[in-house]
Amino acid sequence: MDAWKPILLANVNLPNSEKITTYLGHGGYQALRTALTMQPEQIIQEVKASGLRGRGGAGFPTGVKWGFMPKDAPVKYLAVNTDEGEPGTFKDRLIVERDPHSILEGVIIAAYAVGIHRAFVYIRGEFFLGVKRWIKAIADAYQHGYLGKNILDSGFDLDVSVHRGAGAYICGEETAMIESLEGKRGEPRLKPPYPAQVGLWGKPTLVQNIETLANIPHIVQRGAAWYATIGTEQSKGPKIFCVSGHVNRPGNYELPLGTSLREIVYEHAGGVRMNRALKAVIPGGASTPLLLADKLDVPMAFETLQAAGSALGTGAVIVMDETTDMVEVTRRTTSFFVHESCGNCVLCRIGGTRMLEILERMSNNCAQPDDLEKLEFLARGIYGPTFCPMGTGMCEPISSALKLFRGEFAARVPQPVMA
Ligand code: SF4
Repeated sequence: MDAWKPILLANVNLPNSEKITTYLGHGGYQALRTALTMQPEQIIQEVKASGLRGRGGAGFPTGVKWGFMPKDAPVKYLAVNTDEGEPGTFKDRLIVERDPHSILEGVIIAAYAVGIHRAFVYIRGEFFLGVKRWIKAIADAYQHGYLGKNILDSGFDLDVSVHRGAGAYICGEETAMIESLEGKRGEPRLKPPYPAQVGLWGKPTLVQNIETLANIPHIVQRGAAWYATIGTEQSKGPKIFCVSGHVNRPGNYELPLGTSLREIVYEHAGGVRMNRALKAVIPGGASTPLLLADKLDVPMAFETLQAAGSALGTGAVIVMDETTDMVEVTRRTTSFFVHESCGNCVLCRIGGTRMLEILERMSNNCAQPDDLEKLEFLARGIYGPTFCPMGTGMCEPISSALKLFRGEFAARVPQPVMA
């Protein structure tokens, strides 16, 4: 196999990579020109055939999602999700800051394919540079005729604007983001109806993560057949893996889906710091279950990680060496999710707080004798019936740490005194 060359991150290290002139100088907006010569339905079929699945965490097939959008609705919207907030994930931020036009080209092609004339970019409040880069990219695209009325004389119109969130993790969930875009408090909506039927201001809305959109120009330009040669049977294309934790070279690594965890950690990220043994890995962001070192040869793909008892999630690989205190890891992740709970449902709001209190007692060596059982009971009870996936996601690291490292938790609980 030829040496792998980045596709999505090909431009990010160029000088002035964020500028439209740089993007145009490296073939930018050629895919849009091609797309505008195609029938919208042809593009949807091409995206379906490519096998692209959403990169925001859920992994839903992108072309199928586009096909769900009603064809005859007079008003439809596109909501571009730049609200990256999963702990350990920092890929979307890199693309927005270094190569915003690659996403914008994907936005325009997606809008054309689905018949949308109004798109909203929702960006996490703390991404100050990303906000500036989005605004400048959109302004330059208007100036060059890639946005606005009659784009490149095609008769297609599209307007795009940027909206800053206030930094709430839950607004990365599509319906909470829609509430926030409408100017309301960011709380998830009941599904169904799904945004493709009832979204922004009650209109059909396509919500798409930006890494997903960055794939679209390449699929249009080089074809679905080429794209489908990358990856595994059920997980096609390139993926940006964010590697952090106890590795020598943390960072973003773009590789084909299906690359093994071992290759990502030991070849690309330089291995575990100080040559220590690897204790555990979170493979897909803080809300995915832990894996032990015996799972290092698992291909990083949707289907294989699920079979291994975890999930690809956002592709955020957090590596922990043999010195890691798993009670403390669990306390910290739970603390994040409790802080970010929108408070809408009792299981997540109160149950999360009770679990955090137990983990704090364990961390501070003042646990009560029945705390371990209580923690297991709560993690089991909260998993599943919460209003949105965040409550369940909060339980994943707790349940998997209790399963894999039960002894560490039990050691923090006082043992009964024998008579
Ligand atoms: Fe809000 Fe948590 Fe309930 Fe989701 S699970 S709606 S974040 S309280």
